[in-house]
Amino acid sequence: MYIDGTWCASETNTTFDVFNPASGEKINAVADGTANDARRAIDAAGDAFPMWSKSTAYARAAFLINAHKIMLSRKEELAKTMTTEQGKPIKAARNEVQYAADFLLWYAEEAKRINGEVLPSARADQRFIILHQPVGVVAAVTPWNYPISMITRKVAPALAAGCCIVLKPAEATPLCAIEMFKIFEEAGIPKGVVNLVTTSDPKPIGEEFTTNPAVAKITFTGSTAVGKMLAGKAGANMKRISLELGGHAPFIVCTDADPVHAAKGASLVKFLNTGQACISPNRFLVHASIYDAFVDTLSERVAKMQAGSGFDDGVNIGPLINQAAIDKVDAQVTDATAKGAKLVTGGAQLTAANLANGHFYAPTVLGDVTPDMLIYREETFGPVAPIIKYHDDDDVLAMANDTNYGLAAYVYTQNLSRAMHMLEGLRFGIIGINDINPTSAAAPFGGMKDSGLGREGGKQGIMEYLETKTGGISI
Ligand code: ADP
Repeated sequence: MYIDGTWCASETNTTFDVFNPASGEKINAVADGTANDARRAIDAAGDAFPMWSKSTAYARAAFLINAHKIMLSRKEELAKTMTTEQGKPIKAARNEVQYAADFLLWYAEEAKRINGEVLPSARADQRFIILHQPVGVVAAVTPWNYPISMITRKVAPALAAGCCIVLKPAEATPLCAIEMFKIFEEAGIPKGVVNLVTTSDPKPIGEEFTTNPAVAKITFTGSTAVGKMLAGKAGANMKRISLELGGHAPFIVCTDADPVHAAKGASLVKFLNTGQACISPNRFLVHASIYDAFVDTLSERVAKMQAGSGFDDGVNIGPLINQAAIDKVDAQVTDATAKGAKLVTGGAQLTAANLANGHFYAPTVLGDVTPDMLIYREETFGPVAPIIKYHDDDDVLAMANDTNYGLAAYVYTQNLSRAMHMLEGLRFGIIGINDINPTSAAAPFGGMKDSGLGREGGKQGIMEYLETKTGGISI
């Protein structure tokens, strides 16, 4: 762990093992932190806060730029750590490292634009000055599916705003976090400003984060269930919170869309990270007039996909993170086929000799999916594309919005009016129109409803780490 500028063991001096999900092999063991370790890290962050929050935006930006440069010089090493620990194909890991590095540079620049305002008053003898100041110590919890970019997406705006941070990574991917904190250390970031607590048991640390009076804000990316629990506790203690949670993204292919182009997009975005993304399309709503053409193109491309170790040439489907993830996906597929869905391709765990020790599931396309099936409502987080046929373009917006989630949505249409109608009518935070990657360090990312609160990225992302203060001055 990295606490107060020092690499250390946990107070109990125990460790937990980290495994390669493609081979089942142990990779390494890391410190198994406790609530006391988290408390020590929070204290260190609290001690560093007066100095860090008063340093200039230019100074804070310089540290982030250093970290950005080191990250890019280590791109290949970081990508290899990610593929070994998380499983995604090495090309996808390289893309993630680049995306992750973008946050450091973008927020280094944004640090210098935390502008206040001077407002006119209704009184002639009064002026208002509006300041934005860092909230204080931030506690961050990150997931395993994007184990590097979810760290920089929180650390970069927090540090740019003048906050100090304690981060707890997911238990499946602490090695990526350790590599990132080595970079923060080498970038010269002063002691206590960034702290890392690894653990095999997140509960006591979540409890410490949500109850310790020195923590001003919680930022969490993970499941809706854990997010709601943390939000409840943070709320009871009046801590600020931002949450990026689950999703159930619709992928709408309208009657006027090119079904082949849409199916190509679908095959790329659905199977990215083996479907383990909160913005992964979960429901393909395809107009009846182009349904067959869409399904044919998609299934042809999916049937050719190759599963295996992310280091092997030609592999585009990595493992799922663990056996529980396989079981959840398989239960959804079994339920759907039992209720009449058509298994177009895939539909089973892969157990060939080279895959048997990992957690691989065949990339799967299910046709004729209907509302009575689990997969119609539940987030999948796996390589399954469920396709739903619809008949009337006037109905599809309501079908897409019929979910408790509201993170990402995708629409394929060549009709500008329909595109605008969808953009305005969809109750989702991130919408791709003929676009399968509507994300960037410069753009706000986040959801509505059960998909969370707050935004990360863009100028909105830094506001999550700032208080707004009003000064009324008589002159
Ligand atoms: P997933 O099911 O995708 O693993 P989780 O929400 O369980 O999603 O995990 C996301 C992050 O939340 C991980 O870092 C995990 O350790 C953390 N987490 C899980 N349970 C808790 C908890 N009770 N308190 C704090 N963090 C938690």
